[in-house]
Amino acid sequence: MRKIFFKLLNSFIFVTLFLALFVFFLSHSLIKNTYLKELKNHLRDVGNSLMPYISEIYKEGDYEYLDNFVKQMGNKVNIRITVIDTNGVPVGDSEVDIQFMENCKDRPEVIIALGGEIGSLIRYSETLKEDMLYVALPICDKGKLIGVLRTSISLKRVNSLLLNLRNRIFYSLIGVLFFSWIIALLISRGISVSLRDILNGFKSLSKGEFEVRLFTKRKDEIGELAREFNEMSRNIQKLFEEVKIEGQKFYTLFHAIPEGIILLSREGKVILFNDNLKKLLKKDIKEGGFYWEYVKFPEFTLMLKRADSKGSFSQEIEFEGRIFLCTVRKLPETGEVIAIFHDVTHIKELEYVKRELTINISHELKTPLTAIKGFVETLEEEEKIKNKRYIEIIKKHVDRLINIVERVIYLSELEKKDIELDLKKVNVKELIENIVPLFEKSLRDKKIKLKLYLQENLPEIKIDPFKMEQVFINLIDNAIKYTQKGEIKISAYRKENNLLIEVEDTGVGIPKEHIPRIFERFYVVHKSRDKKKGGYGLGLSIVKHIILLHNGKIDVESEVNKGTKFIITLPI
Ligand code: ADP
Repeated sequence: MRKIFFKLLNSFIFVTLFLALFVFFLSHSLIKNTYLKELKNHLRDVGNSLMPYISEIYKEGDYEYLDNFVKQMGNKVNIRITVIDTNGVPVGDSEVDIQFMENCKDRPEVIIALGGEIGSLIRYSETLKEDMLYVALPICDKGKLIGVLRTSISLKRVNSLLLNLRNRIFYSLIGVLFFSWIIALLISRGISVSLRDILNGFKSLSKGEFEVRLFTKRKDEIGELAREFNEMSRNIQKLFEEVKIEGQKFYTLFHAIPEGIILLSREGKVILFNDNLKKLLKKDIKEGGFYWEYVKFPEFTLMLKRADSKGSFSQEIEFEGRIFLCTVRKLPETGEVIAIFHDVTHIKELEYVKRELTINISHELKTPLTAIKGFVETLEEEEKIKNKRYIEIIKKHVDRLINIVERVIYLSELEKKDIELDLKKVNVKELIENIVPLFEKSLRDKKIKLKLYLQENLPEIKIDPFKMEQVFINLIDNAIKYTQKGEIKISAYRKENNLLIEVEDTGVGIPKEHIPRIFERFYVVHKSRDKKKGGYGLGLSIVKHIILLHNGKIDVESEVNKGTKFIITLPI
């Protein structure tokens, strides 16, 4: 702030000093010129008023009287009066004895006057040895120039008068300058102090001291600036408090979330993480460190790479006896990656228990059910006609029960981790063509047509033929089951490095809200219809498992009352 203070003061001093000097020299020369002009006029007037008397005496030729007369008059008006003849010889002078005077013919003012004009100028007097102001008037008689009347005055008086005046102007200016500089000093200091206060205010604000306020009584722009500053810091303080509250809410929420959350920079550095992540990883994580120092499972790095291209996806990860459902999402705006670790060990355990229970019950049920079936068949042969109807009903239900039990056991086999596929190079076209005859009767019964659109020269692929047959049997069986009229279309074609097989029907369709769940075990959409037909929601579950075991995928497109299309994608 010193700088602005000195800048203001220095420029003010410079400007005032320059102005003062300008005024000083201008006024001095103006006054001098005006004064000299006035003096010249005065000398001319005096000369003109004495002219009638002097010319009269001069004409008479009484030079002694003339000399006395000019001496008297000169004394009275305090002016030197000289009368010079046409030859430049002085004939009377009020201050000097004419005998000691030189010829004045070559004096410039006399030369002008001898030319009939009024000559006036300042020059050094050889006679009086000082600067004099001369005014020379021609003396005429009937239009003829007969001599020169010269009035003059010493400049000594003029100069002392001017010096006096100059001194007065000088001291007045010094006084004015002194006062103006004091005022400038006070103004500059005031501005400088106010600006320093505002600057300090900004410094405090940048340090986060939002309660800082400026006190000023100034009514000018600086005062307005200070008041605006106060308003601004008030608003920032309010805003900051709101942000702080929001931040606290976020902090509480962020750390209360049971999932472990971590935010990584584009380079893989930890930006943010919550307490539960530390608990899940059993590690002390630090912001700024690389994620691989803390998240030690190799799958995670692969997931980050995949998130780079896919944007977002989830995967189960096993770590130190626990299972996490890890969701990785890349934020498109910043390129940062957010990873959420959901501990699903408990759910998985429950699922395992549920599955084990189902399998155990199924296994336990299978033996007695087979025994019941055997006895019912024996009874069927022995019983009299009367009870045969009941026996047939019992047999039908036992068959269905055995079917469910077998499917559950088969599904559990597929879910086993160490399941091995009996892979063989198979021509899918042939495989499908061999299955179709199995459905000839049911197709005929329902008067539904089945059309095949199988591309020629389809490449052979490595699959487990028995399991893949199960897939197509299930899909075609469903297509017939859920179609009343129309047709079923099976197509197979190659698309890039995949083999696509589609099973499409013109049946009842599946409502949108059910589609995401139809592959779950025991999930039934058309309940009453399915129960009648013996469906228990296990078929699609088996289909999905088999496709996944082949590293493929299955998608569904369906519209109610229009039909359903299952699309299987298998890598070649
Ligand atoms: P299910 O063994 O009962 O047939 P799935 O697992 O094969 O069971 O099928 C699950 C459910 O999906 C069925 O209950 C049925 O409601 C529905 N679904 C399956 N395929 C079709 C289809 N082609 N058209 C309409 N709904 C279908």
